[in-house]
Amino acid sequence: MARVTTSMPMAIVILGAGALDTARRIQARLAHSRVHGLASRVNADIAYDDFAAHVRALYASGTPIIALCSAGIVIRALAMSLADKGAEPPVLAVAQDGSAVVPLLGGMSGVNVLAREIGDALGIAPAITTSGELRFGQCLLAPPEGYALADIERGKRFVSDLLAGETTRIEGHAPWLDDADLPRARDARLAVRITPLATRDEDSLVIHPRCVLAWIGHVSPDDDVAERVHAAMRAQGLSPLALAALTAPVRYMTSRSLEDAAHALNVPLRFHDAGDTQDIALHVGDAPIDAQSIGRARGTLTVIGLGPGSAESMTPAARAALIAAQDVLGYETYVRMAGPFRDDQRVHMTDNREELQRARHAFELASEGRRVVVVSSGDPGVFAMAAAVLEALDEGHAVHPEWSAVKLSIVPGVSASLATAARAGAPLGHDFCALSLSDNLKPWSVIEKRIALAGEADLVMAFYNPLSKARPWQFDRAIEIVKRHRGAHTPVVLGRDIGRPAEALRIVTLGELKSELVDMRTMVIIGSSTTRIVGDWVYTPRWYE
Ligand code: SAH
Repeated sequence: MARVTTSMPMAIVILGAGALDTARRIQARLAHSRVHGLASRVNADIAYDDFAAHVRALYASGTPIIALCSAGIVIRALAMSLADKGAEPPVLAVAQDGSAVVPLLGGMSGVNVLAREIGDALGIAPAITTSGELRFGQCLLAPPEGYALADIERGKRFVSDLLAGETTRIEGHAPWLDDADLPRARDARLAVRITPLATRDEDSLVIHPRCVLAWIGHVSPDDDVAERVHAAMRAQGLSPLALAALTAPVRYMTSRSLEDAAHALNVPLRFHDAGDTQDIALHVGDAPIDAQSIGRARGTLTVIGLGPGSAESMTPAARAALIAAQDVLGYETYVRMAGPFRDDQRVHMTDNREELQRARHAFELASEGRRVVVVSSGDPGVFAMAAAVLEALDEGHAVHPEWSAVKLSIVPGVSASLATAARAGAPLGHDFCALSLSDNLKPWSVIEKRIALAGEADLVMAFYNPLSKARPWQFDRAIEIVKRHRGAHTPVVLGRDIGRPAEALRIVTLGELKSELVDMRTMVIIGSSTTRIVGDWVYTPRWYE
């Protein structure tokens, strides 16, 4: 059980604008935290509609919760979730005006550490209620980063014994206990033991320093690396919890077996070429090892789509990538939409037209071992950065072989056509196509041909990039071609700034459609011969004759 680690996203949940100030003060102190606000009352980083349901969902996902409301509201919201076993994230209630911090749940996951930190940020003393912690000034069962508690149940018994009047020795090096108020005695029966060795000692609180490095000099396909590491550690009597990192030669950077093993062993994976030639070697240090200081990580490049604009239509996977990012690249407008960012995150904003240059830059950063995120609006694969990133890889990988070792992933998003369609009803309910009307990267004659053929095929058409100042006449020309295949009453959906504060949706007919009604922020969906209107809704039936 670790204490609160900074990589966990935390949710600061507020019910109204009155709590925003306190929420931002707490947020400024906690890396990776977002303010979640009740949509109808306050504009925060993340919007929710139902407090109890939202808090339950956060709890179920293991997210630390800092709720700026009465303890009672939080307790009632979570009551039915508490019986579920499993990891319990820290949950705290904080008075809206910042005058009280009450840790409620998550003693094992560092709620008191978090309470102290928040108390410090607000200039108040937290309401710590844990007896062991009050008595010893330390939660013995939540050792600091770099150490792991061997067995929580035995740990609880140990703390009860101390509370009942027993004394303890400390064996090994535990600097964080120096100012703990422990009942120490040199001849005590009980002992706090800091050791990398596995032990089944009933009279000890065993804490393992993460001080073992496993060097994997050779990996074969279908290799169970985790099992090899386990066996090697067993042979030397070491606890698997004492493992700090896996290290391997740079040529294995793309090895799936190694990645799986690091995941299974829950340790970082680092690469360097200074290790020995052995298949596997364990190096046991005498203090916790900071894995970040060894060699480098495999860099990651994640291309994400933010969705059309509002926070709730961004996928959790995209949000997780943003939280984990060290570098964020993208067109200025989208990068701003993706914020706010922490001080430790580097933001690279560029002009919209420099896509290939941006993609190359992303590969360069990721090749250094950094966690890089490239942002697009909507879906990254629809007229956006995912293709640009692959174009850069395609033309660059021969000259930059290190780009191929980058862990590349594309995280989908809600594309503008889908978001617009949902607002209007279901115009894409039957076969459809998506076309960009921009002739920056393709000849206009190709666009005309595709519109004509889509018209002939009776497909619903979603037009991206319908019009810009540099392309004044093209949209009217496109409509002219559509009209050869569709009647004047064909429904047309115009979605502008969908999901953003200035959102506007209009339903017109093809006869009424003209370029004055659209701009670069508009999505145009033109119905097929079967697209219909019912009430305020536009839909295309699933059947076709
Ligand atoms: N990758 C994006 C599309 C980029 S092309 C996606 O999947 O949505 C840019 C075009 O998308 C704009 O010219 C406009 O036609 C459309 N668009 C993007 N965001 C929009 C929004 N919020 N509302 C309406 N149209 C949008």
